[in-house]
This record gives sequence, C-alpha cells and structure tokens, in this order.
Amino acid sequence: MYYVMMDFEWNTAYAYKRSGFINEIIEIGAVVFEYDNGIRIIDRYSEFIKPKVTKKLTGRVKELTHISNTDLKTGKSFAEAIFELTSMVGRNDYTVMTWGTTDITTLLDNCRYFMGLESIPFLKNYMDAQSFCQKKLDIPGNNQISLSAAAEKAGIDISEFSAHRAYEDSMVAALCLEKCFDAEEIAKRTSVCDDAFYRKITFKKYKITDVNDPNVHLDSIKAFCPDCNKETRCTTKWRLKFGGTFYSVYKCPVCGKTYNVNVTYTRYADKVTMKQRQTPTVPKKEA
Ligand SMILES: [Zn+2]
Repeated sequence: MYYVMMDFEWNTAYAYKRSGFINEIIEIGAVVFEYDNGIRIIDRYSEFIKPKVTKKLTGRVKELTHISNTDLKTGKSFAEAIFELTSMVGRNDYTVMTWGTTDITTLLDNCRYFMGLESIPFLKNYMDAQSFCQKKLDIPGNNQISLSAAAEKAGIDISEFSAHRAYEDSMVAALCLEKCFDAEEIAKRTSVCDDAFYRKITFKKYKITDVNDPNVHLDSIKAFCPDCNKETRCTTKWRLKFGGTFYSVYKCPVCGKTYNVNVTYTRYADKVTMKQRQTPTVPKKEA
C-alpha cells in the first residue's frame, strides 16, 4: 500500500470570472511513502504554482509562508502540476491524505476553476490525516488541531522544518502519521473517491430552521430541573431565534423554577445532529 501526504499553500484572491473569492493554490508539496515499521519515502513533489487570478499576495500569505512573487515566477501552471501529480500517484493503490479536509476541497475548487473538472484526476482513495492523528494522539475536542500542535504532542522535532510551506508541512504530517500508524484504522477511515465522496466533501453543514423538517422533533424534547431531578414541562410555543436555534421555556412542577431550553439541529452530508442546552430564566425584578 502506498500513501501520499499532500499539502497546499494558497492565496485568497477575488476572481472576476466567478464574482467571488478563490483560494488560489500557489504551492504544492507531496511525499509518497509506504509503511514497514516506519515510513519509507519513495517520491517527493515540491513546486510553486504560477498564479493566474492575481500576483498580489495577501499580507497573511507573505507573513505565514515567506513565499515571494519572485518564487512564484519560477512556478508551473496549475494544470501542469496536476498532470505531473497524476502521472506520479494516479494509480489505483495510492491513498491520498491531507491535514484536514480544507486542502482537498481547495484542490477540488482549483481543479474546477482552472481546468473545468468536477473531480481531482489522481484522487482514488482519500483519508483526512488530521482527524485520524487527533484520535490516535488522544486529543479531544471539536476543534481541529494544528499540524505543529499535533507534531509536538507526537514528540516530533519540527525545528528543522519551515512551517506553512507545502513540502515541509506534508513531511511533518507524514511523520505524525508514522507515529500513529495503524493500517487497519487507516483502511477503515479511507474513502473511495466516488460521487458520494465529492458530495460529502463539498456539502456545507447548516442549521435546520424548518419546524416541519422530518428531523425536527420539538414535541419530544425532554428537560429536567437540576435542583429537583424532576422532568420539567414545556410552557411556551417553540420559537426560532436568529442563528437557527429553537427555544422554549420549561417549568419545574415541584419548585416552580423556569428554564430556557435551546435546541439546534445541524444537517451534515451524512447525518443530522441535535444539541440541547438550558439555562435558568432570569427572574423578573420586583417593582
Ligand atoms: Zn425544580
């Protein structure tokens, strides 16, 4: 089994052609490796991409990457780089990985914009290395951990790598993966890049605000009084707050305290989640 860790640097620019912004890829880095009691590097890729949308780099990009316009002048066209990557890793048995899914959605967006494609030519199998390593390193939380933080936790010395450069970042990510390597778990988390895969990575999660949506079940929301451990009763109609949260007031039948109950339903590509929170209502001041 061959693995490819990829990383992209991009510059955010306004694209008149689409009347909106694009994250234009300006650098591509990749490490091809296999694993046998450690990673064994087979191939490497590191190229600047000559920007087409704008040559003007944002301050953030200049500061973070130290990539200059002079560097980019030596770059290849995006399409040329994609052809090279396709001949390097376009075979079936490669699993492509990136640190978080933003790199892969950005790559797809660039393939669409510059090449008119609806898929990434060399992508056959894909895994998000960030969520895998985060789980393996036992780092909790909904927030995606940064590559440098994960490397530190994995005990990798990153002092010799320049952060936020495509090749170096792909190398550090490969080293993180090496520390957490688990072929079975990787296979389990690897997706075949079919239509369903593209639908999933391009899906934008949103809060469901339609009470009649079949996933919304406000009538069955149960709440409890933390003081009495008693089930409280819904006393008002459910209403929708700005931002997509439903709310109602529940009252404890024992102590009479009232609680604001907030419920949000979030639709993801493959699931709907429900979150419920409650806070005591602020008592009205006596006149
Ligand atoms: Zn109570």
